[in-house]
Amino acid sequence: MSPRTTRHVMPPTADRRQFASDTEAPCCPSAWQALTEANHGHAAAYGDDAWTAQAVAAIRDLVEHDCAVFFTATGTAANALALAALCRGHQAVAVSEHAHLIHHECGAAQVLTPGLALRPLSSPDGRLTPEQVTALADGLGVHGHRLGALSIANASELGTVYDVDRLTAVAAAAHARGWRVHCDGARFANAVAATGATPAALSWRAGVDVLVFGGAKNGLTTSEAVVVFDRDLADDLAWRHKQAGQLAAKGRFWSAPWLGLIRSGAWLANARHANAAAARLAAGLATIPGTVLRQRVESNAVFISLPVAVADGLRARGWRFHALAGAQRLVCSWDTSAADVDAFVADARALAGD
Ligand SMILES: *Cc1c(COP(=O)(O)O)cnc(C)c1O
Repeated sequence: MSPRTTRHVMPPTADRRQFASDTEAPCCPSAWQALTEANHGHAAAYGDDAWTAQAVAAIRDLVEHDCAVFFTATGTAANALALAALCRGHQAVAVSEHAHLIHHECGAAQVLTPGLALRPLSSPDGRLTPEQVTALADGLGVHGHRLGALSIANASELGTVYDVDRLTAVAAAAHARGWRVHCDGARFANAVAATGATPAALSWRAGVDVLVFGGAKNGLTTSEAVVVFDRDLADDLAWRHKQAGQLAAKGRFWSAPWLGLIRSGAWLANARHANAAAARLAAGLATIPGTVLRQRVESNAVFISLPVAVADGLRARGWRFHALAGAQRLVCSWDTSAADVDAFVADARALAGD
């Protein structure tokens, strides 16, 4: 068995949606349509095509900033590039103990920036506070890494969200120490939908220097955008992007779907839909005896303790979901239906003998 199949032993069930991850959802119609439209004629390669230019312009409009934009195949590559833009190898990045960067990226950031260190901080709800940033000791002078950046995830790995006030406060604490700020926005659209803030208010206006704007979980096939607000940082990044193997020859197929997503408004509608499905799921499960909600449901994930027999029984009935951070994690997607949610809740209720 290959290492990557060990967590995915269930065969795919095309007939119903799962709660394992928003990465399991298909591509949404507007993005697929844009992909189809881009599949036409010859176009300049390596991002010099019209679709890429338009997608960059659409992202600039959306975030209200004349930023630099780099498309990547994965969030892992996007995060590693973002930190490469912000840090050098003798530096350290303050992150949540639950950071995707630490647990799920196989050290990619440390490969792209050799020597880089990640400094995990306690974060029971997935978020970091300005007090933690201010109090973090710098280490052992030249013998330890020099703190250089703060990396937060919005929405966080535990489904909680930094609103504008929280984000502004924690970013200001980082800037006061002379650090840069990276936002891992694999679920940025969900955070925007949850807060009602504009993308600008929830990024550069709040002090984010580099944003990774997640596409795959929002409804694309395969594409994330590294959004660099300080253009000086972007200069070198074009080479790092190529060096990291992320400058796609047929770049139009990574950029065109963004056009469909943004022009149709699906980026926000998809996120709102997924967040609402998670709220419905949490409300349904909360009424079942023996369940304990582990995190506030602020985006599209529900972290909940289910009685062991219920969790096992749900899996035996073909539901797929992962255990994470000491709870069961249920993730909703742009295509999760109310019927999917209600079927899951009904199964859980039956298994609980309620
Ligand atoms: C999904 C996710 C990513 C990106 O993961 P890839 O599998 O590399 O695309 C990054 N950060 C967070 C918080 C995520 O949940």
